[in-house]
Amino acid sequence: MSEKLEKIEVLIIGSGPAGYTAAIYAARADLKPVVIQGLQPGGQLTTTTDVDNYPGYAEGITGPEMMEDFKKQAERFGTDTRWGMVTKVDFSERPFKVEIDESKNVLAETVIISTGASARWLGIEDEERLNGYGVSACATCDGFFYKGKDVVVVGAGDTAAEEATYLAKMCNKVTMLVRRDEMRASKAMQHRVMKTENLEILFNHETKSINGEAGPIGVESVTAVNNQTGEETIVPCSGFFVAIGHTPNSSLFKGQLDMDENGYLKIEAGTSKTEIPGVFAAGDIADHVYRQAVTSAGTGCMAALDAERFLADKE
Ligand code: NDP
Repeated sequence: MSEKLEKIEVLIIGSGPAGYTAAIYAARADLKPVVIQGLQPGGQLTTTTDVDNYPGYAEGITGPEMMEDFKKQAERFGTDTRWGMVTKVDFSERPFKVEIDESKNVLAETVIISTGASARWLGIEDEERLNGYGVSACATCDGFFYKGKDVVVVGAGDTAAEEATYLAKMCNKVTMLVRRDEMRASKAMQHRVMKTENLEILFNHETKSINGEAGPIGVESVTAVNNQTGEETIVPCSGFFVAIGHTPNSSLFKGQLDMDENGYLKIEAGTSKTEIPGVFAAGDIADHVYRQAVTSAGTGCMAALDAERFLADKE
């Protein structure tokens, strides 16, 4: 006898701002969405301290508290939030078969993918020890706390260049650690970096250690090492920003959905539609440019409206 599978109208994979906003809209449209929270319930914001740039929180809010509010709001309209990981998807026919925790299968009429992206880290012990105490992977989120102070940015791509110039506007001094003798960033961004007076680039430099204490003291300096000469330089700073790229959490969809060369899902411009009708993408999984909570929430709303229209057209 074949297994009788649970049927879900809108299955949302991922529980960051995109996933929960999609859930709020889908639940209010009576589509009984199910959110599979994933490995990091609440998404990247749960690793941030204060969020001061999300409209509506006039006094600011911490990332974990904000995501709890998102969840509560989605559940207020009947969203079914579940612990677990989606471990397999089959988009070859509708309803789509989705496996959860390698054990349970469900059938979904529509799927909204909001699995986000994860910041890449250097992988040194100090990074973890001082995360939230001066170590950050998001200048737009945390730069404000280093107003008038000295900071270090690691990386040499467009993100690092953008974050370094953004920080230079508010910080006293920005030092960029670039591991090669040139930057990967576009010429225009490099030009902007070079033109910034309070920004110094240390080429051929890597991070040896981040010095300081978790707690009120936080980051105090960074020991950088010249990989050509072995010479060490101590750069005094209060903030250490890692900007060496993000990895979109899209491995689950390889071979089933179109992606760009970095693994970000491709969607039809101005919509949340992937090339498979009924499968939508929202948030950082399909956006390597803006990557903000508020833009993710906006695309989550789009995905729910696209899913609602898709289901209405099928009736
Ligand atoms: P990239 O992959 O382009 O760059 C990563 C950078 O980090 C590289 O310079 C790399 O060095 C460096 N790096 C990687 N690992 C280490 C390490 N362990 N130690 C020190 N440095 C390291 O990532 P981005 O996030 O910058 O950009 C991703 C994509 O998004 C790109 O296509 C970019 O153009 C795009 N983007 C566009 C923007 C815009 O248009 N406004 C803004 C931001 C991003 P190396 O060069 O030596 O490999």
